[in-house]
Amino acid sequence: MPQIQPEAVLLDYDRRHVWHPYTSPTEPLPVYPVVAAHGVYLRLMDGRELIDGMSSWWCAIHGYNHPRLNTSLKEQAEKMAHVMFGGLTHEPAVSLARTLIDITPPNLQKVFFCDSGSVAVEVAMKMALQYQAALKLERRKHFLTIRGGYHGDTLGAMSVCDPVTGMHQLFSGALPVQFFAERPVSTNDEAWREDDIADFQTQLAGHHQEIAAVIMEPVVQGAGGMYFYAPEFLRRVRKLCDEYGVLLILDEIATGFGRTGRMFACEHAGVAPDIMCLGKALTGGYMSFAATLTTERVGEVIGRRDGVFMHGPTFMANPLACAVANASLDLLSEMDISTLIGGLASGLRRGLEPCRALPAVAEVRVLGAIGVVEMKKPVDVAALQREFVERGVWIRPFGRLVYIMPPYIITGAELDYLTSRMVEVIKTL
Ligand SMILES: *Cc1c(COP(=O)(O)O)cnc(C)c1O
Repeated sequence: MPQIQPEAVLLDYDRRHVWHPYTSPTEPLPVYPVVAAHGVYLRLMDGRELIDGMSSWWCAIHGYNHPRLNTSLKEQAEKMAHVMFGGLTHEPAVSLARTLIDITPPNLQKVFFCDSGSVAVEVAMKMALQYQAALKLERRKHFLTIRGGYHGDTLGAMSVCDPVTGMHQLFSGALPVQFFAERPVSTNDEAWREDDIADFQTQLAGHHQEIAAVIMEPVVQGAGGMYFYAPEFLRRVRKLCDEYGVLLILDEIATGFGRTGRMFACEHAGVAPDIMCLGKALTGGYMSFAATLTTERVGEVIGRRDGVFMHGPTFMANPLACAVANASLDLLSEMDISTLIGGLASGLRRGLEPCRALPAVAEVRVLGAIGVVEMKKPVDVAALQREFVERGVWIRPFGRLVYIMPPYIITGAELDYLTSRMVEVIKTL
């Protein structure tokens, strides 16, 4: 019989041998052992239950241990957990492709399934490079993006992350060099100022012959700083890309599947990309999985003269991942996203309002089911985390940001509990 390890033994081994995200190998921040999760609750090894404010980094939109998601996995596991996708296909993949094509902008007609968000971004970048190469525009080997973005941790994806928060100097010489425009200042269309597009326009006009695609997160920049920007910026970017024959990649990995109050954040601008990256909440937070979608045109150009698209992960279109993604999308289709997320947005606005008056707070902003309190100074992550856990909530700050994006199933009372603990802790700073 396996022996249940006491907490201290587990934590000690973890500390000495197991790497956690963005953590020192020698002086890691503390971690909390979790044994189970259900609904919006995480259960720690010592029996405490925490209300989850993070959706496990945007993923667990339906909460944890969801009966319908569990069933889809069990049923699929009994048919086949995995088969190679080279030379084979299966119903879970085809039906997922059909749903994704139905719910994304109508020009997106081709789906590439892959392993994780970062890989979906690599795939998108390679599609753009192969497209331009097939058009004999071989100088178009670079990308243009805006500052403050985050697109993943692999080398190509890192090259288009914000140069400062993405620590480009650490990898200088190893990363492809890309073009960066200033990020827009306007946070909504009412506040739109023409100045916001000027730098982007100058860069594209000056370098379009070297640019394969523009890549951006639509309306919300996530891990690069939790910035919200005016949809008008996206409309202008779309227009400029068309003018210069440059593709537009929208990275909806964090924003997709309802988080901003629309199924996809590009809908706020009424803009369709040439390539779209999906990930994170795609499987309702059950496992790593992602997809890159593109147009008939991009597919057709890449395929000219027997061209093949040069990517094919071992676990491409994994049936378990497809099955749980299908179940998650079924659940989403039963929701009225704008009403549901609108309700969460009001709850977040009301709940975080008291933070505005606090001396340590620089700004409070809410969009959809995302609530951000930006502090004037970077916070002590370990200390704040402990304060939150002691109050029964799971919130993981980074840098100057204390933010939440709870599972959509959170109740009004649970959300009030979460935001009031957040206010209580921030008050002490
Ligand atoms: C998280 C994220 C990624 C990377 O996804 P992984 O699954 O962590 O590789 C890429 N782009 C955006 C916008 C993200 O939020």
